[in-house]
Amino acid sequence: MAQNSSHPTVESTVATTLDPSAWKEVRIAARKLLSKELTPRIEESENTGVFAHEVLKKMGAAGLAAPMLPEPYGLGDLMAQTLIAEEMGALSSGFGLSVLASVCLFGANVGRHGTEEQRQKYLPGIASGEKIGCWGLTEPATGSDALSIKTRCQKDGDHYVLNGSKTFITNAPIADFFIVVTREYGADGKPIEGFQGGTAFILERGMPGLRTGNPFHKLGHWSSPTGEVFLENCRVPASAVLGTPGGAFGDMKYSLDVERGVFGGLGTGLMRFCLETVVKYGAQRKQFGVPLLEHQMIQEKVAEISARFELISAYQNAVITKLMRGEGANKEAAILKVMGSRFANEVADEAVQALGGYGYMREYQVERCLRDAKLYDIGGGTSEIQKLIIAKQTIREILTHGHSS
Ligand SMILES: Cc1cc2nc3c(=O)[nH]c(=O)nc-3n(C[C@H](O)[C@H](O)[C@H](O)COP(=O)(O)OP(=O)(O)OC[C@H]3O[C@@H](n4cnc5c(N)ncnc54)[C@H](O)[C@@H]3O)c2cc1C
Repeated sequence: MAQNSSHPTVESTVATTLDPSAWKEVRIAARKLLSKELTPRIEESENTGVFAHEVLKKMGAAGLAAPMLPEPYGLGDLMAQTLIAEEMGALSSGFGLSVLASVCLFGANVGRHGTEEQRQKYLPGIASGEKIGCWGLTEPATGSDALSIKTRCQKDGDHYVLNGSKTFITNAPIADFFIVVTREYGADGKPIEGFQGGTAFILERGMPGLRTGNPFHKLGHWSSPTGEVFLENCRVPASAVLGTPGGAFGDMKYSLDVERGVFGGLGTGLMRFCLETVVKYGAQRKQFGVPLLEHQMIQEKVAEISARFELISAYQNAVITKLMRGEGANKEAAILKVMGSRFANEVADEAVQALGGYGYMREYQVERCLRDAKLYDIGGGTSEIQKLIIAKQTIREILTHGHSS
């Protein structure tokens, strides 16, 4: 594979290593392992905000942490990763968020854009789950408008000096490895403006000039630590650059589509959990002398939830398949994200309602789903930004070809 290229060669060349029956086995193995190892730890992890690292290590030992990484660290298999994401999402979206931030945001970007040396250094620890990675783009004053980042890097001989801060970074408080996206400043002290001035770096905890803040308190995903990264005259060798200097924004384009596809699995899993909870609860809870499931307005909820889950599952499958073929899926990944988020929020809301007061209590966990689902509308590019992507491409397709895709 050519280094420093945003072309999706890693995923497309090895996509055939697993087939649908192997994917089924991956799903079953992940479900078994997570149900044994993660289920007993969810409540404690949610209550304390401590990420269940031991479970990630067990996933790594079983080869279930990072199948999307390129060989020999993984299988280059996005579908397997997405199915595992679904299994995590069905138990704890918070746990899944931290795992995917490490594997999909840090690991896959190193796999895709890193040098051979960088891959050998960082990917074994990510694949085994022993090490935790994170990826930092967002800053206190810059979210959706990513090109406006202010964290700066300036060349100093064969080193770079980094200054600035990142916020809302998943895993920042616990990460061993960091990717930070910066804006490059020229020798004249002025920023290199626009698309060409972004440079990403791989940093490690313990480097002078890098420190992280305490985990934030937030609406949901309590078991996934989120926090800040501060860079104060952090001096790193040029070998810490990830990808081409000045090419970080270009590199990100494909990575974000992959991220939207794979992270979508968390929401699909959350919907499946809500569906199963509503049906199981509705079968045993009686009101007016009959099980809730016999009331047609409860059946309507089952139907609405089931329809959303099935639609998103099928569309997620189509988007991941497209990405694995190496085809562009910018619009499709945005559609998956905006509709998956909307459906997950609606489904969690309906599930709480279907369980009534018990749904509002923590015991049945659908209240956590309702809190967790809101992040899907925000992280990885908000729903509004996804709609801008969809509209822009749709308008271009119709005005250029006379029809959409
Ligand atoms: C729990 C959590 C984990 C996260 N993890 C990470 C991570 O690991 N790494 C990372 O880099 N970031 C991470 N983020 C940050 C996330 O990606 C940003 O929050 C998101 O991109 C939105 O940026 P913002 O919060 O600055 O909102 P803003 O960009 O300030 O947007 C505020 C509102 O304005 C809307 N808006 C903005 N621009 C437009 C426009 N042009 N048209 C219409 N509406 C617009 C937005 O949709 C939103 O509704 C995380 C966030 C959370 C909450």
